[in-house]
Amino acid sequence: PAAVGVLGGGQLGMYFVRAARDLGYETWVLDPGEGSPAGRIADHHLVAAYDDREALDRMGRACAAVTTEFENVPADALDHLAAVTVVAPGSGSVRVCQDRIAEKTFLRDHGLAHAPFAVVEGGEDAAALPEELFPGILKSARLGYDGRGQASVATPDDLAAAHAEIGGVPAVLEQRLALDTELSVVLARDPDGAMEAFAPVENRHTAGILDTSTVPARVPAALQDEATDLARRVAEALGHVGTLGVELFVCDGRLLVNEIAPRPHNSGHPTLDCCAVDQFEQQLRALCGLPLADPSAHSAAVMVNLLGDLWLDEGRVREPDWAALLAVPGARLHLYGKAEARPGRKMGHVTVVAPEPEAAADGAARARRAVGLPPAPG
Ligand code: ATP
Ligand code: MG
Ligand code: MG
Repeated sequence: PAAVGVLGGGQLGMYFVRAARDLGYETWVLDPGEGSPAGRIADHHLVAAYDDREALDRMGRACAAVTTEFENVPADALDHLAAVTVVAPGSGSVRVCQDRIAEKTFLRDHGLAHAPFAVVEGGEDAAALPEELFPGILKSARLGYDGRGQASVATPDDLAAAHAEIGGVPAVLEQRLALDTELSVVLARDPDGAMEAFAPVENRHTAGILDTSTVPARVPAALQDEATDLARRVAEALGHVGTLGVELFVCDGRLLVNEIAPRPHNSGHPTLDCCAVDQFEQQLRALCGLPLADPSAHSAAVMVNLLGDLWLDEGRVREPDWAALLAVPGARLHLYGKAEARPGRKMGHVTVVAPEPEAAADGAARARRAVGLPPAPG
């Protein structure tokens, strides 16, 4: 095989590089930071800004195909690269997913269910906005993740202050929903439009950050089928090529699309341990026009994110008790090799696999206790 590249050097890029290396590819990473998780293990690490045309050209000429590991690369950089080599996903898909206004508008235009929302750019008459949006959540259109760039808006009177709180940037105001639960569907779509979807995952968040992902999701089979179908429609409408993560709200038994990640997704990490193929190898296969693999799960799994807080003990840095965690049957520990632990920073995850869902859940609870994490939310 030839060389492949990825824009972005985080843990998602790291697993992409690992998948590519496993299949014998030479690997390139373009990321502005030294010592990124993906840059550390790639054959070539270009330390450059994403809009550095010289670096993009160099990578493009060296690689048979290039993908991205996050949605905030400038869509123009993808267009620039696409003149030099194969790029997937394309800029169209990334453009929609990197801006909540474009994303919500896309969902609305394609008849894909979503939460009621309005665009907030500043200076609008809050009293004129639909009443159903209150209480709501104001979310910056760009660059938010893990619940950052969001503010609560209880009443129309709070809108101006909330907008100032997130920096006055373009945003969407969304109705605050009473969620039954949250699901996500990770799928891969190849250049011919063929798709393979992993089973829907059930997700729990704490303070806007993904805490736990459970496979199989504890919802009726019919709802799982509906979720998969909805995600396939999203991928189709985007014309997406590569791996795609679709976050879904379950509200009064109905599914709504929350947001779309044009790349592998944190909730797809269980696939590293409970499926015959993982979301990163599917990304590679789609990118290179190779056949997509059967995504069936061979085990139940519960994944728990390991955030930087776990390393921080009253201001001091300490290593969690990995030996205790590794003693849990079925526990698979993943650390991303990030140098500095910061509150809320994703440092790694643990997935507990077991033949039965109950055993995986028990194992995850044990794994949490082993490293001193509080019990799962919800
Ligand atoms: P990510 O890290 O997944 O990109 P994000 O910062 O883009 O997250 P969202 O996915 O919009 O943020 O929201 C984070 C979490 O906050 C959701 O998964 C959900 O738990 C909760 N949440 C977001 N919007 C709503 C809503 N309208 N009603 C109820 N809960 C919500
Ligand atoms: Mg997001
Ligand atoms: Mg989200």
